[in-house]
Amino acid sequence: MSEKTIFQKIADGEIPAKIEFQDEQCICIRDISPQAPLHLLVIPRRVIAHLSVAEQADAALLGHLLLVARDMALKLGFADGFRTVINNGPMAGETVPHLHVHVLGGRQMGWPPG
Ligand code: 5GP
Repeated sequence: MSEKTIFQKIADGEIPAKIEFQDEQCICIRDISPQAPLHLLVIPRRVIAHLSVAEQADAALLGHLLLVARDMALKLGFADGFRTVINNGPMAGETVPHLHVHVLGGRQMGWPPG
């Protein structure tokens, strides 16, 4: 059995995190190094390493992650603007090989992103 990812350890309660929401499919936590006043991570309990290896069978789960991201941004008061990001691979800045959706808000975002 391969070693658990850091996000699996958080989901299993082995590493503390500020959990904002959880259900049977995912957890939503505060990022430990926030890049904006709002910086959440929406993480599936089942490991998909990267978006690039997701399969058609993951479509409902991926959709669920986005809807949770949307719901959390609205619930926490960021209806005026928020950004969702999935980094895929080292060139995109992915550091944890367990797919997760960043939810950022609370400051003016630039484009293109860095
Ligand atoms: P990535 O760079 O893979 O797209 O995003 C990984 C994110 O996970 C980073 O924003 C990083 O700050 C966050 N992170 C890494 N380790 C932990 C941790 O132990 N707890 C929490 N809450 N966030 C973490």
